[in-house]
Amino acid sequence: MSEKGLTTISLKKINKSKVYQYIYKSKVTSKLQIVSDLQMGLSTVSQNLNLLEQEGLIERNGYFDSTGGRKAQAIQIVPDFKISIGIGILKNMFHLTAVDLYGNAIFTDTFSVPYSNTPAYYEQIAGTVREFISSNQYEDEKILGISIATQGVTSPDHTTVTYGTIMNNTGMKLEEFSHRLPYPCYLEHDSKSAAFLELWKHPELDSAVVFLLNRNLGGAIITNHQIHQGNSMHSGTLEHMCINPDGPLCYCGNRGCLETYCSVDSLEQAAGMTIKEFFPLLREKKSSQLVQVWKDYLNHLAFAMKNLNLIIDAPVIISGYLAPYFTDEDLSYLTEHINLPAPFKLGKDQILVGTNGQYTPAIGAALHYVDQFIHTV
Ligand SMILES: [Zn+2]
Repeated sequence: MSEKGLTTISLKKINKSKVYQYIYKSKVTSKLQIVSDLQMGLSTVSQNLNLLEQEGLIERNGYFDSTGGRKAQAIQIVPDFKISIGIGILKNMFHLTAVDLYGNAIFTDTFSVPYSNTPAYYEQIAGTVREFISSNQYEDEKILGISIATQGVTSPDHTTVTYGTIMNNTGMKLEEFSHRLPYPCYLEHDSKSAAFLELWKHPELDSAVVFLLNRNLGGAIITNHQIHQGNSMHSGTLEHMCINPDGPLCYCGNRGCLETYCSVDSLEQAAGMTIKEFFPLLREKKSSQLVQVWKDYLNHLAFAMKNLNLIIDAPVIISGYLAPYFTDEDLSYLTEHINLPAPFKLGKDQILVGTNGQYTPAIGAALHYVDQFIHTV
């Protein structure tokens, strides 16, 4: 093909992408709005809209209110034109979620299957995914990919778990999943997946420190609108920050890691009950012992947040399983304890709280393929 031919094709593709991404960002728009904001000719926009509609990527339904003349057609993307599936694997269960192109979770469920490094385990996960897809009668082309969030640090190429002490899954391979599923598969450290979801929800953030308050603690650092990985992929593993050298033994072998004070496991241990039992009783404020357990928890969290705020001068995001339990009063308590006394203050509005609870890593993992798709239409 001539050089000119190639240029025309790529220009067409760029225009199509531009129009699609404009509609995606606008949520609902009109043809004339696209013409005016993208400064493209009316016929170019019309051609691209027809193309996108034929391919099923966008839909035109409804009209904008008009004060006179012809009403403008409302144009939007088809949010479930493609979906992405996220799996969050934990020691005693796994989460399954499906998200649409706006990152909305259209399905979430939990399966009580303990992790084991056996073909039967991987087959069970793959089988659950296949069953989910077939029971919803999704065509294979609709599935962007399957993204797996695992406890444990992954290799830079995301093919292997390089540090998986909690689940004892060091060495776990992406292949165990990808060999069993006819879709693209991706493997990610669950803390990083959670951070990806929080970043997705706060695209305005340049930097942040993410606390993943899950059964085991996790963390991530966001800088320059990206998740910081580090030389060996362990940036942000704030769970192993030592806050008391004489503290309880951590699974990593050290003593007094933040994990031993601020993980859900440690909170349940201190309270002597499950989280689901703990919070309703705590909020009744009848047990001074439970109020103290929660204060201790928040004190340790504030201690870590205060120290990390010196390293990363940015908002703090509370994410994961415990996040939806945080009240406004808790945030005031945290802010007070972070700031008193401190050389630099952290405003209460600088503490953000995630809303997806235990499904945060699975949803964040699924966004990997959504993000990729949106940028390559
Ligand atoms: Zn540790």
